Formats: sequence, C-alpha cells, structure tokens
Amino acid sequence: MVVELVSVGTELLLGNILNTNIQYLSEQCAMLGLSVYHQVIVGDNRIRLAEALRMALGRSDVVILGGGLGPTEDDLTKEVCAEVMGFALKEDAHTHKRIEEYFKGSIYKEITSNNWKQAMVPEGAIVLDNDNGTAPGLILEKDDKRVILLPGPPAELHPMFKKQVFPYLKKLQPEIIRSQMIKICGVGESQVEDKLLDLIDQQKNPTIATYAKTGEVHLRITARAESEEEAKKLIKPVIKEIRSRFGDFIYSVREEETLEMAVVKLLLKYGLTVTTVESCTGGLLAGRIVNVPGASEVFREGFITYSNKAKRKYLDVSKSTLKKYGAVSEQTAKEMATGGVFAADCDACVAVTGIAGPDGGTEEKPVGLVYIAAYVKKKVTVKEYRFKGDRNKVREQAVVKALDLLRRSILENYR
Ligand code: ATP
Ligand code: MG
Repeated sequence: MVVELVSVGTELLLGNILNTNIQYLSEQCAMLGLSVYHQVIVGDNRIRLAEALRMALGRSDVVILGGGLGPTEDDLTKEVCAEVMGFALKEDAHTHKRIEEYFKGSIYKEITSNNWKQAMVPEGAIVLDNDNGTAPGLILEKDDKRVILLPGPPAELHPMFKKQVFPYLKKLQPEIIRSQMIKICGVGESQVEDKLLDLIDQQKNPTIATYAKTGEVHLRITARAESEEEAKKLIKPVIKEIRSRFGDFIYSVREEETLEMAVVKLLLKYGLTVTTVESCTGGLLAGRIVNVPGASEVFREGFITYSNKAKRKYLDVSKSTLKKYGAVSEQTAKEMATGGVFAADCDACVAVTGIAGPDGGTEEKPVGLVYIAAYVKKKVTVKEYRFKGDRNKVREQAVVKALDLLRRSILENYR
C-alpha cells in the first residue's frame, strides 16, 4: 500500500520550523511496511493544498496530512479535504462536548467562536479524539482511498498517530510486517553497503535498509508475511548472515539499545567500573554514559582535563611527555587513560585528546586529529583518528569512537 505524506504550513516553507512530523510519520510508515513514495510540503493556501491533495489521491492509497486543523483563519486543511472529496461539513456533538471540557480544565476560560469551527467534521468521517489539544484528527474514506488529517503540533500528532492511526493502518495492511534492527559501529556506511551488496541486490522479502548516524550505521531488516512466525523465519537467516559478516562491529540488534547502553551492559556483565578522561570532548563522553539508567553501578567519576596543567594535576601525565609529544598525542592519551584508572581507582578508563577546531590546527596536527585511549585489564590501546567536520562534529565522532573502543577492548580482554 502506498502512502503519501503532505505537510501543511507556510512556516515550513519559510524555514521557520523544522519538519519533524514528516520524519516521525515516515519512520512509522516504514515500521508498518507501508511504502512512502512522495512527501509534499504545501503552504496554507486553499488552491495549492487542493492541488496537492488531488495529486496525492491520484497516485497513493492513503494520504496523511499534518497541520492546519486549528481554529484560525489560515487553518484550512479540513475544509479543503472535505471539498475535494465531496463531503459536507456538519457539527460533531461528541467533539463539541470535548472542546467544552478541554476549556474547563484549561487556563483559557473563554471559548472564542472560532474554536467551534473545530467541532465541524466532514460527513461520515472517523473522528480521532485529541487528548492534548482541541482539534480532532479525522479519517475520510472514499472508494478505496483514505485521507487522514492530523494536527500540526508534534505533542498532539505523535500520540494521536500512535494510539489511533497506527492500529487503523495496521488493519488495512493484510500482511504482518516485522522488522529488526542491527546496529553497527566502526564501519562506514559505504563499506557496510559494499559488504552487503549481494544481499541488497537480491532483496525483496525481507528488505534491508541502511541508515547512517554519526559514527554508526543501522540496518533495518523488514519482512512481510502472513504470520508473525513466518516473518521471523524470513528474518532469521538474514540476521545470521549479517552477523557472520560484521561480527563484533555489531553492538546491538535491539531497536531501543544505544551504543552507551551496550557499553554499560558489558561493564555490568563483567563487573567492571569505568572512568572517563576528556580533553576536547569536555564531558560529552561522561554525559553519554550517564544517559543510561543504572550507570551509577559502573561509573563513579569522570575528569575533564582541558589544560596541560589539569592533565598533570589530576592524572599525573608527565611533564616531559607533554613537552616532547604535545597534549594531542598517542603518548599523552596513553598516560591520561592510565592516570584516570589510578585517580578514580577503577577497572577501566577511556581517554580522549584532540583538536576540535576551528583553530589550533597545524600541518602536522590538523583540526580533527584525535587520540583515544582505552585502559582495560592493565592494557592500553590507543587509536588515532582524523575526523572531518566542524567542532561539534569532531567532538561527536570522538565520543562515539571512544565508546566503541572501550566496548571492543572489553570484548577482547574479557570474553
Ligand atoms: P493549531 O491548533 O496549533 O493551530 P494546527 O493543526 O492548525 O494546530 P499548524 O497551525 O499547522 O497546526 O501548526 C501548529 C504548530 O505545530 C506549528 O507552529 C509548529 O510549531 C507545529 N508544527 C506544525 N507542523 C509541523 C511539522 N511538520 N513538524 C514539526 N512541527 C510542526
Ligand atoms: Mg494552526
């Protein structure tokens, strides 16, 4: 089944807001196994919106529109959809009552007349209650086409979609869709694709989709089948094959598991405590670890040693190392990691030192040069990276590589 997504709002065209709804809806459709071939953004304009809807109805089975359901003059999605599909608007008593009740509990005691506009619905429409606002969502069905209207604010659109639209769409799709995630770190996207080319080329069911994230590549394996069991059967050998090709580069096969979660899980598994020593990442790395609920079991303290003085004071990095090799060097990274373990009296440490830019680079040590050291089981592994991108990008990539180096060092030494 083909779905088309239409975002309505002049503010989207002007770049005033980022179209996060489209990302959410596309992702949800992919999860349902629905094909999205077109995404359209159109302003708050009657004629162009009608045109966009007609075009969408001509080439898709389901059209999902977001935005323009509110009470103001420029909100005209419902009116235009009703007109294009030939439905008259009439008042929905249930929605009228809900709006009344919504205002009772709100700070705005007075209901202005334009609010009642939201109780008007196209005849025969399925009304989707809005638990977080006043504009209800709507589903219009005509012949074999379906048009779904959702309010623009993400805090209203997301829960309405999840609770009411997701199950509706799931029922429309006779097949079961099951998907599984594989999360890879340490291999670039093009390398991943290259290694999977034969599988991707012959993919039909299940399909393999790749997504690049900072320092990571995620694969979604999606199968369609008549039953859950059958879908699982289709996915299993593909996962097995991918596992055999990527081995330890795979850090998780669970949708909700992040890299830091996988790291904390490993530390817990082997009963290890860890500390972080950061220069250019300035606490980002520790922050990622502390993101994980239960991190306190493995992480007690971290160090931000930005200056040479701090590196000496807290980690006992030797003066001669700093002088001879510089703060951004393999040797310093190594001493930082070792110093961290002693300073925090723990089992493992990961240390980062680098040049995030925009200034401070030289020909020999350019912006983006980062050394990461992991101390695990009395062994220190140091890696040199040359990241591309601006200051933020360099720091973000360094954090991912640091988490991954720690993860792999633990696997190598404890498994
Ligand atoms: P309201 O009742 O608030 O007017 P609405 O259904 O009429 O809701 P819009 O007026 O189009 O929706 O948008 C309201 C707000 O919702 C926008 O100002 C914006 O903050 C947010 N919003 C709308 N569309 C999107 C989108 N595609 N992605 C992210 N946010 C959006
Ligand atoms: Mg509005």
